[in-house]
Amino acid sequence: MIDLHSHSTASDGTLSPTQLVCQAAEAGITTLALTDHDSIAGVAEAQLAATQYGIQLVPGIELSVMWSKRTLHLVGLGIDISDPDLNEALCRAKEFRLSRGREIGLKLEQAGILHAFEGACEVAGSDLISRSHFAHFLVAEGHAKDIRQVFKRYMVRGKPGHVGGQWMSLLQGVELIHQAGGVAVLAHPARYNLTRTKLRSLFKELKAMGVDGIEVVSGSHSQDENKTMAQHALDFDFPASQGSDYHGPEKPWVQLGRLQPMHYRCRPIWEAGLELGVHPQ
Ligand code: AMP
Ligand code: MN
Ligand code: MN
Ligand code: MN
Repeated sequence: MIDLHSHSTASDGTLSPTQLVCQAAEAGITTLALTDHDSIAGVAEAQLAATQYGIQLVPGIELSVMWSKRTLHLVGLGIDISDPDLNEALCRAKEFRLSRGREIGLKLEQAGILHAFEGACEVAGSDLISRSHFAHFLVAEGHAKDIRQVFKRYMVRGKPGHVGGQWMSLLQGVELIHQAGGVAVLAHPARYNLTRTKLRSLFKELKAMGVDGIEVVSGSHSQDENKTMAQHALDFDFPASQGSDYHGPEKPWVQLGRLQPMHYRCRPIWEAGLELGVHPQ
């Protein structure tokens, strides 16, 4: 069982890296990638836990990047977490997250919601602030009934707490991952609200940039979306990745390693001769 997309408390997941690895081992996962948003802070702990629980840990990341004025997510697998350029870029992303957080806080204040930045920081428990942390705070304060509602009402374009992304470019992200020895994969392609035409022009660009694969099976895709992405992967000759995008037990419909089967004609990325940084133990 292979799960190449998951989150811990190092970003917006709710389990610590150790708890996450423990859950993965209990779920029967043999290979898990920890792919926190713009952070590798959890990888060392996860690696230690993986040795203890006897599973393979792929050191990974989910980079926020800009393409055509939108934010996309790029998963890097098998990265060298000591790479200086990567660490430098992650520092900058973290700084943007902080200034964006303060701005979101101010905007929410204007909408009558007080202390949201402080609340989000408390939920985060670290210096990496995500919109998810705001969402948890807003639910706890009774401003919406669940996380999905918060995003819809407050955190997306045109809503009172929305601040646009200012991340590195897609090309910079691809180069950063490659320079750190990793494999670059477009995360959950069906989640960007792109038309079929726009999505295919993105795939064409990804191909030209040397992106290694796309996530075909994702916990954030419907079964139909998995199917459509499998077809795109075949059309563009992309190796296919799979991952639950697990954030913790709060979303019981997303489980570690509980994935739809990959289309039989797709070429799994772990069989495509790419180095995912998994070494026999
Ligand atoms: P950020 O990287 O801080 O902008 O936050 C993005 C994260 O927020 C995503 O990785 C998801 O975990 C979460 N998220 C984004 N949109 C939604 C949504 N509509 N419903 C629930 N969670 C969302
Ligand atoms: Mn997330
Ligand atoms: Mn994502
Ligand atoms: Mn994710």
